[in-house]
Amino acid sequence: MTEGPLGIVSAMPQELAAVLALMPEERRVDLAGRSFWHGQLGGHEVVAVVSGIGKVAAATTATLLLQRFCATGLVFTGVAGGLGDGVRVGDTVVATAFLQHDMDASPLFARHEIPGYGFSRFSTHRSWQQGLSAAARRTAASLAATVGAEVVARFGLEATQVHEGLVISGDRFVSSEAESTALRQQLPDALAVEMEGAAVAQVCHDHGVPFAAVRCVSDRADQAAHVDFVRFVSEVTCHTSAHTVLDWLSHLDTPQA
Ligand code: SAH
Repeated sequence: MTEGPLGIVSAMPQELAAVLALMPEERRVDLAGRSFWHGQLGGHEVVAVVSGIGKVAAATTATLLLQRFCATGLVFTGVAGGLGDGVRVGDTVVATAFLQHDMDASPLFARHEIPGYGFSRFSTHRSWQQGLSAAARRTAASLAATVGAEVVARFGLEATQVHEGLVISGDRFVSSEAESTALRQQLPDALAVEMEGAAVAQVCHDHGVPFAAVRCVSDRADQAAHVDFVRFVSEVTCHTSAHTVLDWLSHLDTPQA
């Protein structure tokens, strides 16, 4: 078993709040404008941090976690816009792979290919992905106990689903039907869009450490996205994501399993 903590990353404070609430004895280290919270979660040593929004903020944070805190792997937890058919607000997407939808060095390289890598998609760690999917299903099955029956009824979360597949990242909050339709046409298998995951996946690839990500769908990346998003993040996501990560860690034997 490799020594060192597991890094838990969210883009926004609201997304990490419930995780931190589950780490009562954490120790805070401030570095590069971020607070890194070192402690225990689900029987594992973890460092939890808010990265900030976007690929650069996410890549910087991931690098610090690996280089300065000796994290042995990273997990991203947060929200995303639903793109795939049937991916609805309240559903959970566990990423099997990440791609940067705004990477375009064509005609020198194929559209979306990362120059120097020879490919566009970074796979997530398979057994972590499977473990998070199982944890997300357990969370979905006990949603009313986690967020309360009133919240389930108000947001219409009676039959939320867990999806596994491609998540795409770019430095843009996708908030129009035109934009999300264009992304669906370019990348028909993309389930969700967000702004950090592909950057963290690339940093983990470079360091040869496992990465996995769970995203709760806060909006449908359309005109209503900004409204859905704000309400949803504060009242639902922070609780469900934290519950999923805690459940997964509680079932995880070793950090490198
Ligand atoms: N209104 C927020 C900004 C959120 S940006 C604020 O004032 O701070 C959106 C964040 O949620 C990003 O971290 C991104 O990863 C995720 N996200 C959720 N829905 C998204 C969408 N439709 N498009 C892109 N990112 C989305």
